[in-house]
Order: sequence, then structure tokens, then C-alpha cells
Amino acid sequence: MSSVLVLNCGSSTLKYALVRPSSGETAASGLVERIGEADGVPDHEAALRQAFDQLREAGIDLHDADLAAVGHRAVHGGRRFIEPTLVTDELIATMHQLEPLAPLHNPPGVLGMEVARKLLPDVAHIAVFDTAFFHHLPPAAAHYALDAEVAERWHIRRYGFHGQSHEYVSQQAAAFLDRPYDQLRQIVLHLGNGASASAIDRGRPVDTSMGMTPMEGLVMGTRSGDIDPGVVGYLHRTAQMSVAEIDTLLNRRSGMLGLGGAVDFREIHARIDAGDEAATLAYDVYCHRLRKYIGAYLAVLGGADVLSFTAGVGENDALVRADVLAGLGALGIEVDDALNTADSREIRAISTDASAVTVLVVPTNEELAIARSCMAVLG
Ligand code: ADP
Repeated sequence: MSSVLVLNCGSSTLKYALVRPSSGETAASGLVERIGEADGVPDHEAALRQAFDQLREAGIDLHDADLAAVGHRAVHGGRRFIEPTLVTDELIATMHQLEPLAPLHNPPGVLGMEVARKLLPDVAHIAVFDTAFFHHLPPAAAHYALDAEVAERWHIRRYGFHGQSHEYVSQQAAAFLDRPYDQLRQIVLHLGNGASASAIDRGRPVDTSMGMTPMEGLVMGTRSGDIDPGVVGYLHRTAQMSVAEIDTLLNRRSGMLGLGGAVDFREIHARIDAGDEAATLAYDVYCHRLRKYIGAYLAVLGGADVLSFTAGVGENDALVRADVLAGLGALGIEVDDALNTADSREIRAISTDASAVTVLVVPTNEELAIARSCMAVLG
């Protein structure tokens, strides 16, 4: 049974999973951290070799694993790449040109492609783009109200990210409810370290919270999400911060970390329980922002049939789910406490029978979604 090695390269981490797309089974998965740091591996090539070693220790030799493809998570395809695409020298060259669109995310992804092609030269490498699912957002949702010529010249539009997850989760939700995908109005909340919301109208994504870059929208682990663009110029002029410093501030030193002192929600809750005011404020800002997006997407869709929570926070944090949806009975959303707090790893409903909107917890599986996209390319 053929398998796909899925690689997700960040600047200092490499996540990998060996997936069997036909059964949906993950044969092995793991993570190499601290790439390029003093106590870690020196570079991405060493990281990938370490991943191979880890697989070998788990009893898997990639050369015997009937590897059909290596699937690369590619963050930003710009206007050029939409569909999953075979990695060639030409694609890599074009991806280098797209780096300014996602300066923190695209360079390590491209590096991962280069290194993996070198170490596994005999297998097809396929780039699967985070932006693909949202490529056909309606113009009203895809455009910023910016000088049209400037926007066109510099390719500024709302691209959206986490597409694999939003697509996979919304399809899983429809299958779980045994309803046709193209009849449901869905809201998906992907709440991990990165976080994004989407509105999907009868199978078609009509809005999403991330925009030109993965910084817009919800409060995230270390990213600010929505912020007045005036803040950027103000910091530059008044605090004499450089553009690179402002990028770092908004990407790495903001969000739950910047406001509340911790990225991980387990830590945030522990601090709140200990009376930490900063953590409490960060939690309240996080939930408030989410509620605003839910309200907005209910309006965009004209009401929803399903609302799904997914990713690390969405799947595990019952308190976030309860607090974000508290008091929304008038909008047709009612969470059942016992169902919400039940200990389960499975896809499940957590709303009451009376709730007009069915609220689900749906485990995401971006690796499987990427692996299946690869198989579709290979036919
Ligand atoms: P990534 O965006 O890196 O893929 P994940 O989707 O794995 O992130 O989410 C990671 C986050 O999930 C952690 O930072 C943490 O806040 C949250 N998380 C994980 N497990 C739990 C848990 N049991 N309770 C609350 N939050 C959790």
C-alpha cells in the first residue's frame, strides 16, 4: 500500500508524517526542533536526516516504504500556484520570487523542498499550498479597500491560509452529519498556534480571517491578528523601530505571548487560576476577537448550520469553546456542558438538541489532506 511522506518545514522546526492516503492511517510522525540553534541540529538537511533516523528507529526504511510521493506543505502560492504542483527547478525558482509575500514562512518551506529532493531524488515531490482552498473567495472578501493600482502591482489581496485544514474539517463535518457538503453553511475555527476562521457557504469558501499574510484576523500564539495599520507607521516614526523589528514584534512577540506571557493555553489557564491579570486579559481579548468573527460570519452566511472547532486549542480546550459561545442562544448556538467537557479524541457534536447551529469538535489532519492532494496529482 503506497504511502506519502508529508513535510512541514518551519524556520526552526521540521514536522514529518508518513501517511497511507487510502486508509488515512499515519504510519509514523515526528518533529525535529531547534534547527540552527546552538543545542539543535545545524541546518534543514541535518534535520531531515534526523527525521529519517527517527523513522528507521521506528522500524521504517523509506526505501522499502513504497513511497509514492513526498508532499510539501507550502504556505504562500501567491497568484501563481493554486493547485498541488510537482516540485521542479522552475517551481523552486518561482517560489524564491514569492518569498517577500511570506518572508517568515516561504523560505524554510522552499529550503525543505530543496533538501528533500536532494536526499530523496527518485520520488515525486509535490507542493501543496495553504492558500489554495481560498483562491476563489468572492471579490468582496478577497479585496482590501486599497488604491487599486498599488494593490494590483504588488499582488496585495486576501489569500487566506490553513486551507487544507478548513477544507478537510468542513468535509469531515458534512460526512459526520451525513449531509451533502454543498447544502451546509459552515463556520470553521482552526485554533492552533496559528489561528484562522472561515465561512463556507454550501461548499464554497466565502470568507476567511487571514489575509495577505498569516498575520491578519484572530489572536494567535505569538501573532497579533487584526491591528490598526496606523500602528505600524506610528512605531516606525515614534519608537524608531525598523520594518524588520515591527515584523518581529507583530509575528513573534505579540498574541497570547506578548499580552499574556505564555503561548500554550494550558499555561494561560494555570496563570489565570493563580490570579495573573495579564493572562486573564489575553484570554479575554482572544475570546472577544473570536466572538466577533463568529458574529461576522453568521452575517456573511445569513445563519449557519454547523460550527466546528479544530486544531490544538479548538480540539482540546473546552473552556475556550464554552466561553466563546456563551450567551449566543439568541443566535441559535447552545453548547451542552457535559458533551463539551467529555474526554474524547473523536469527531463529535457538543451542542444541545435545541441548538439551531450544530457545534462540532473535529480533529484536523492536515498531513492526510496533503497526502490525498498528492495522490490526486499522481492520478
Ligand atoms: P500548530 O499551529 O503549531 O500546528 P497546534 O494545532 O498543535 O499548533 O496547537 C498547539 C496549541 O494547542 C498549543 O500552543 C496549546 O495552546 C494548545 N493545546 C494543546 N493541547 C492542549 C490542551 N490539552 N488544552 C489546551 N490547549 C491545548
